[in-house]
Amino acid sequence: MSGDRPSRDELAFFRDLGFRDLYIDRPLPETPALVPGALTDLPALSRFLEGCPRCKLARGRTHIVFGQGNPKADLMFVGEAPGHEEDVQGLAFVGRAGQLLTRIIEAMGRKREDVYICNVLKCRPPNNRNPEPDEVASCIPFLEEQIRLITPRVIVTLGTFAAQAVLGTDEPIGRLRGRWRSARGVRIMPTFHPAFLLRSPERKKDVWEDMKLVRDFLSSEKP
Ligand code: URA
Repeated sequence: MSGDRPSRDELAFFRDLGFRDLYIDRPLPETPALVPGALTDLPALSRFLEGCPRCKLARGRTHIVFGQGNPKADLMFVGEAPGHEEDVQGLAFVGRAGQLLTRIIEAMGRKREDVYICNVLKCRPPNNRNPEPDEVASCIPFLEEQIRLITPRVIVTLGTFAAQAVLGTDEPIGRLRGRWRSARGVRIMPTFHPAFLLRSPERKKDVWEDMKLVRDFLSSEKP
């Protein structure tokens, strides 16, 4: 919508049509540019992102979900975008998919606190819809800076969207998963998203195969 606030009748009309989120178009405020390489640590980057108005997701979010974990992790997990629970708590992967991710990490012989977990988008898309290109364009520089500051040895991308965004490809996840790739000088292992595994548990064995490759690489080749 654009212009003034909608009337109660207009709101009821959209609610009856099944809409749950309504955005009122307003110009986005000017924001300072993120200069790659300028910020020296994750807390500074997180502060820079505070109150971010760079895309339309700012209007519907409860919290920005920056990401959390070991700032010097050798292993980083990157998902798509916060869901409802993450938006409420301001933490990445804390809902049901996140609990499954914790079990995957533990099966690799690690703890959640040892790794770093974040998403391509830092704000929840309404009704968990797919991220849109302008949202990715606004947000991905922050992921790139997280990768630069953490310098992980391996990034595991979770699901189609994260793999395609990190690798800059439109190849399907079926072809991407389980094969080493590289981007920004870091080894990337695309695998299925834990939310997909909750719906298709028979694919857990594929993810386990992928995670064994990651575990073995990290334990055999110390820099
Ligand atoms: N799904 C994601 O991609 N990220 C989260 O943080 C939670 C669910």
